[in-house]
Formats: sequence, C-alpha cells, structure tokens
Amino acid sequence: MKILIVEDESKISEYLRQGLTEAGYVVDLARNGLDGHHLAMTEKHDLIILDVLLPDIDGWRILQSLREADNKVPVLFLTARDSIEDRVKGLELGADDYLVKPFAFAELLARVRTLLRRGNANATETTLTVADLELDLMRRRVTRSGKKIQLTAKEFALLELMLRHCDEVLPRSLIASQVWDMNFDSDTNVIDVAIRRLRAKIDDDFEPRLIHTVRGMGYMLDSTVDS
Ligand code: CA
Repeated sequence: MKILIVEDESKISEYLRQGLTEAGYVVDLARNGLDGHHLAMTEKHDLIILDVLLPDIDGWRILQSLREADNKVPVLFLTARDSIEDRVKGLELGADDYLVKPFAFAELLARVRTLLRRGNANATETTLTVADLELDLMRRRVTRSGKKIQLTAKEFALLELMLRHCDEVLPRSLIASQVWDMNFDSDTNVIDVAIRRLRAKIDDDFEPRLIHTVRGMGYMLDSTVDS
C-alpha cells in the first residue's frame, strides 16, 4: 500500500513518514505543492494525505486537478483550523475525510486504514483468507489454524500483498516496489530473506505449504495447494 504525503512542515511530514513506514506502508513525500501535484498526477497511490496550506499550489488545487482528471484516489485533508467553510469546501471538491491539526498519530492511522479499506474493491472486507490462514486487516492480526502468528509490519504488508494476489506469481520487482519502495535493480536479497522469515512463521509448523517459489520468476501464495 503506497501513500503520498504532501506537507510543507517538515516536523509533521517526517513524523508522518516515520509512523506510516513503521506501520508497514510505503511512503512518498512531497514538501511543497508543486512536487505534490506532480507526484499525485503521475504516480499511482492508494491514498493521499494532503495539507491544505502549502506555499505554492495549495491542497484545494491539487485535489481539484485530481478529480478533474477523474482520479478517484482517496484523499485525507489536513487542515490547520476546524472551520465549517473548509470542511464543506473539501467535501465539495471530493475529499474523503479530513483531520484538524494538531492530531494524534493513532487517530490519523485509524482514518488511513478506514480510507484504504473503503478504497478497496470489496468495501466491507476486513479479513483476507486462504486455506486456514487468516489475516485481519483491522486488528492487524494473523492466524493459521486458529493459532496466532506474530509478524513484523513489513511481513504483514508482504503477506497482505500475497493474499490480495492469491494464485498470481509476484515478481521480486513488484514485491520490492509495493512493500519496500525499492527499484527493480535494488538488492532483491532483502525480499528473499523476508520471504524465508515469513515462511518460517506461517508454513513451517503447518500443512500444506502456502508460499511457493516460482523459479526464475518470483513467489506465489497458492490456494489450490497439494503439498
Ligand atoms: Ca502547511
């Protein structure tokens, strides 16, 4: 899941970037409206966190451009003051939610998760399952055969990606860009190590094995498993 943050106050943007990265999201950061506008219009994101007051192009303008281009990416606005005019204007322009500064990170994360869930094809979907493996998106919990499994934020993000693309071969390059924000030519050893750790947790003590290596191509979570 990739999130774009457009925020000129470095204290807030760094705080958001760090928190969201630790929560397992891939984060793009724009420190002014021009960069934000460019990234929003050219890259694909699952969510945009948009500050209203920016030194050049403001948040309203960026949102307007997106909606005019028929881009329906969920947008969470950050506003400095809680005024009815701001709220109405934001909603009229097509914002999905807004948060008034200062806010607690836990509050932002809750909004982010709600918007991301809403943005997905099945809006009511809060769990992903394959065989006896279950991933609870709301509680960030994973169980297999009812047994609780502890995953790191990255492992959770990796498993979520695999579950969302069940029975598809995921090339390392795709995993790298979706979970680590790395490019194709980066060291993909990181991915092999992460897959090994994930396997140890969800496959080693259970039957059948779910994560498969597709030689020369990548990895796949198989729902039609034999063994
Ligand atoms: Ca600002």
